[in-house]
Amino acid sequence: MEKDDLEILYQETILDHFKNPRGMKKCEHCTAEKQGYNPLCGDKVDMSVRINEDNTIEDMQVLSQGCAISVASGSMLAELLPGKNITEVREISDAFFEMMQGKPMPDEIDYGDLDTLEGVNKFHSRVKCALLAWKTLKEILIDWEKEKASK
Ligand code: ZN
Repeated sequence: MEKDDLEILYQETILDHFKNPRGMKKCEHCTAEKQGYNPLCGDKVDMSVRINEDNTIEDMQVLSQGCAISVASGSMLAELLPGKNITEVREISDAFFEMMQGKPMPDEIDYGDLDTLEGVNKFHSRVKCALLAWKTLKEILIDWEKEKASK
């Protein structure tokens, strides 16, 4: 790997999230849980979420095991999303998936530290690492949507 590439992948913010992942605290009364696995890299994530009556993420726990990119991405997700409405969460998630395909992020969205992962889209094998937590969250939201519709 070129030195520039390493600088893109291992910026200070990314390493800080990797060393001190947010979202480790136990999620109280969480109602949805999913595990995600990225066989290409061996990354794992165990995510628990509580979504309240007005469709806001009240609390979440994101336990990651794996490479710096996967752990940092899960940590940024855990830092950014609690307190946000599901509509907003979907906007951020959609924009992040697009960013990983090389599309620019719209300005009006609050990304927290996610923009530091933008350079990852140059490395196809690492995109799956960055998206693992977000794919897992998507599955949780699909289940939540179904459960809501059945009530
Ligand atoms: Zn990985």
